[in-house]
Amino acid sequence: MNAQATDPIRILPAQVAARIAAGEVITRPLAVVRELLDNAIDAGASDIEVHIEHGGYRLIAVHDDGHGISRTDAALVGERHATSKLTGDEPAGVTTLGFRGEALASIIAVADFDIRTRHAGEPVGTLISARAGCKDVLRPISRNVGTSVEVRDLFAAYPVRRAAADPARELGAIQRWVARAAVVHTQVAFRLRVDRGVTLQTSGTDEQAALAEVFGAEVAQRFLRIGPREHSGTAFVGWVGGPSLHRSRRDSIVVAVNGRLCDIPEISRAIDSAAAENFPRRRYPYVILHIDAPAAWVDVNVHPAKAEVALLDSATLAQHIRQELRRELGRGLHEPTPAVRLALADQDLPRYRLSEVPTEYQSTPDWGALIVLRGNLPELRILGQLDETLIVCASELGTLLIDQHRAHERVIYEALLARSTVAVQPAVHVTLTQRQDVLLQTRFDDLTESGWSLRDTGPGVWQVEAVPAGFDPEDLSAVLDRAIIDGSESILAAAACHAAIRKRRPLSPGVAHALLGALTNTAQPATCPHGQPIVLRLDRQFLERQFEWR
Ligand code: ADP
Ligand code: MG
Repeated sequence: MNAQATDPIRILPAQVAARIAAGEVITRPLAVVRELLDNAIDAGASDIEVHIEHGGYRLIAVHDDGHGISRTDAALVGERHATSKLTGDEPAGVTTLGFRGEALASIIAVADFDIRTRHAGEPVGTLISARAGCKDVLRPISRNVGTSVEVRDLFAAYPVRRAAADPARELGAIQRWVARAAVVHTQVAFRLRVDRGVTLQTSGTDEQAALAEVFGAEVAQRFLRIGPREHSGTAFVGWVGGPSLHRSRRDSIVVAVNGRLCDIPEISRAIDSAAAENFPRRRYPYVILHIDAPAAWVDVNVHPAKAEVALLDSATLAQHIRQELRRELGRGLHEPTPAVRLALADQDLPRYRLSEVPTEYQSTPDWGALIVLRGNLPELRILGQLDETLIVCASELGTLLIDQHRAHERVIYEALLARSTVAVQPAVHVTLTQRQDVLLQTRFDDLTESGWSLRDTGPGVWQVEAVPAGFDPEDLSAVLDRAIIDGSESILAAAACHAAIRKRRPLSPGVAHALLGALTNTAQPATCPHGQPIVLRLDRQFLERQFEWR
């Protein structure tokens, strides 16, 4: 029945009000994970284990070795606005991740929990339990210094949220979040256990180790350093994946302000615009960006989930970040190092007899007449082919030497990235090992986005219904295995390499013309999918230096 206009105004019972407030803080399992990780990091933990069952709806547990909660403080845990982190009056200048004293109180309202904790200065620990919205047990236990929080049956009393639950999606989001936390807090060892196994583990040694542990050694090797740069009190430092590394999702863009994972809209736009100049459309870079700003310049209280922060003068900072990213990513055409001397010395010359002058260095009239119109490369006049490997062109940037194999690789790679999908008919069943199965669940979203259509049909068995164009459907389990381990992108690069014209193949002028026409229309004509140069430029200045004309 609807409330009547004449119903009197009432003050809601405290428990109802608490539930309403809790609903805003704890909207989904991911929110619990974020709050518990914040607490563990605030407690100075160096080792954190997260355990998730059924996408967090059945269990979310976070174990840390931080300073723990004292017996006296334990009595306050779970009360609203109970926090040890704000000592002054207002949240300006907070240096901890938490500050509202809201998280644990909200979790009590929407789930059952047990906290087992022991404070660094005390001989015994405390068990704090809460069931059905009420804290009801507080008793001594023995355990190591640190805190374990176990949250069970989230939203059991909220049938609508429970019905809308999507454990697989939630798990993906949690895994991505823990990975992001691990590349920001690299001094902490993280372990993520998901139902059947460990899906992420870092050693807590240093930044490079964490990048390799989270993204894989091969990807981490191709990261470029950005910064450190400082501008009127705010500093930034970090990493960007090299120009050949890009992803279909934005979730490898990690921004942290004073150690807090967050979004600053202006900085996200700066990253996007630097990426747009260097990557194919709708592809995103790997970015790890640590911003250090005086605490008083950061407003962390602009978003209920603390996901967004406002930063004084973020526009200028964004500009500097954009410049730095552009510089690192857009090194443009690769030039030979000027230190290398190209001048032929007399003793380098073999003893030629007139009849042995190699003919491949001569341009036929046909060659010199072919023009490729300006695309993402300048207008090219094709002079010939060198060594049956390089196409030589004149351009306004100087003489360009273009590697025919890498040029073709780039053209094919971008065609594959266009993500056309081929149906596998009839669908094929692939049986995976337990490790593959866990990995596949982790990468499920990525694979789907890159054109795979996969259905979980039983423990360890997946039905493959479609694959990205360019793959051989004959050998699906091998291809899927590589896709799971490497991500779909690196197999695309391998497929392109396989299909491209080799070195030491004579090209006709017409074929060279068609190839360069396609190359100039690719998004990144100067770098092959493995990140190596496609084009060398011998410009005027370079030749002047080498010939010592001046
Ligand atoms: P906040 O983090 O905003 O202070 P919470 O509700 O998340 O609020 O936590 C309340 C208080 O409980 C914290 O201020 C802290 O004193 C204590 N606490 C929570 N989790 C931990 C933990 N893992 N280790 C030590 N203390 C903790
Ligand atoms: Mg907190």
